[in-house]
Amino acid sequence: MRHRIAVVGGGPAGLTFARVLHRYGHPVTVLERDPAPDARPPGGTLDLHEKLGQLALEKAGLLAEFLSLSRPEGQAMRILAPDGTVLRDWRPGPDDLANPEIDRGQLRDLLIGPLDVRWGWGVTRVVPGGRDGVLVQSADGRQETYDLVVGADGAWSRVRPAVSPVAPHYTGVTSLETSLDDVDTRHPDLARLIGDGSVAVYGANRSLVAQRNSGGHVKVYSKFRAPLDWHKDLDVDLADPEAVRSSLLTLFDGWSAPVLDLLRRGTAFAHRPFHVLPVSHTWPRTPGVTLLGDAAHLMPPLGVGANLAMLDGAELAESIATAPGDLDPTVRAFEERMCARAGKWARITTAGLERLVSPDPAEAIAVFDEVQS
Ligand SMILES: Cc1cc2nc3c(=O)[nH]c(=O)nc-3n(C[C@H](O)[C@H](O)[C@H](O)COP(=O)(O)OP(=O)(O)OC[C@H]3O[C@@H](n4cnc5c(N)ncnc54)[C@H](O)[C@@H]3O)c2cc1C
Repeated sequence: MRHRIAVVGGGPAGLTFARVLHRYGHPVTVLERDPAPDARPPGGTLDLHEKLGQLALEKAGLLAEFLSLSRPEGQAMRILAPDGTVLRDWRPGPDDLANPEIDRGQLRDLLIGPLDVRWGWGVTRVVPGGRDGVLVQSADGRQETYDLVVGADGAWSRVRPAVSPVAPHYTGVTSLETSLDDVDTRHPDLARLIGDGSVAVYGANRSLVAQRNSGGHVKVYSKFRAPLDWHKDLDVDLADPEAVRSSLLTLFDGWSAPVLDLLRRGTAFAHRPFHVLPVSHTWPRTPGVTLLGDAAHLMPPLGVGANLAMLDGAELAESIATAPGDLDPTVRAFEERMCARAGKWARITTAGLERLVSPDPAEAIAVFDEVQS
């Protein structure tokens, strides 16, 4: 008999999990809160690493399609000092496919492929231990039971409380994200500044990173150390883009004019404080429920979260599909492997965030040099 499996969340973790199970012919239900795939902007570009995200795509049979969609040139990275001096200007070689970039929307569509996602299914509660299996409830009163419920519902997971009382905590670093459209035609000077990939500028306890997506779209991330409610102290209404812009221009006062133009010309601003789970988050084995991706191991966004989420999804699906029988030992062995790997990356990214948004900007450049060497 096939196990009744539901995955909560149609992000990188949940979709990779479902897609690999689908490849093995195993049925799986994907419950996603968003009402439609394009219900909200999908977010910035992702670089998928050869031994993480790309390995997951290989397990899903999607690596060739990914490579044809991805942008190897997007790996390019330029680092400037706040006065605009170019400190580093790294470009990938023509065959460098270590970490090519892909837009999140393109990745999502690639992963969805033939999957029948149940959109608009926001899970509110998961109750293990029932006679008929694990109960899953939605906000509008629907409920279903499964043999295994996989929580791939991100940072603020509604599945996680079924296995762990732990909640994310604030890192002390926050981010305001804005964007530019049609950069090559509307802002050619900024297009040159950004190049094919990213430009990053590091100052004391703050940084600005602009990153090219496909189609001339650019995301600009300003990051700084501040209390979680810094905007209340300064009386800044986060819903008012001009108020946010003005507070950022004050914060980055003295930086070179082209760098500040990234903020001056950006459209709306999204506030994204960085939260994390404890570095070695584990939970007591709870038959019928497990977690993947950010729901299991939310860490600072330093370029691996989606990669790990996808590898988690691919590995769990592969384990289930190739070891039919009792699910419990399969899931337990997977959790041990996933938590060990995530713990290693959580330590690396936690230390990385300290150095990338640090009182000494030279630390950030050293991080870049270490990654390149
Ligand atoms: C600014 C920024 C830049 C980043 N850059 C990179 C990068 O370059 N490379 C990289 O590897 N990682 C990057 N990350 C991290 C990466 O975005 C996350 O680690 C990754 O998206 C986690 O995937 P996930 O599937 O676990 O969760 P998510 O991507 O959060 O997906 C969760 C899904 O679950 C759905 N959902 C949520 N709650 C419910 C519910 N109750 N019921 C049903 N569905 C629900 C959501 O709508 C969503 O579709 C970045 C993060 C940030 C913030």
